[in-house]
Amino acid sequence: MKPNQPDEEVRPDDLEEQVDFHIGKDAFKGPFTCHKAKTQLRTKQLAVKGISISYEAWECPKCQKEYLDSKQAQRLEKIWVIEKLLHEKTIHFDRTINYDGKAFFFRFPKEITNHWHQDMTAHIELLATNEFLVRIGEVTK
Ligand SMILES: [Zn+2]
Repeated sequence: MKPNQPDEEVRPDDLEEQVDFHIGKDAFKGPFTCHKAKTQLRTKQLAVKGISISYEAWECPKCQKEYLDSKQAQRLEKIWVIEKLLHEKTIHFDRTINYDGKAFFFRFPKEITNHWHQDMTAHIELLATNEFLVRIGEVTK
């Protein structure tokens, strides 16, 4: 196990393309108001290591300022996590892959799993055949 030191937050200007956006205050849903005008929903693109990723934002028709509602902000946060992964800035650890005769598995380090219990499930997003994003959580009923 060789954890990287937890590094600084990834900010929009770390991305290849600059993104200027504002998270709408107490706003779970757009549209927002800017320059006395209603912002309009736009699909935007940003480049992460040459990969173009689209996201939605509310844009002021006058000043082009971007506003994000909470759902849009969550999506952008995930994009930043992926951006961190691609630049190998995340905290990570290496594990041996075990085989029990039927399936492959690995063990999580104990330091991480202190508060886990047996009813939890793993939600696995396949990024490639050898790359995954795993979210451990409660079973949703
Ligand atoms: Zn404006």
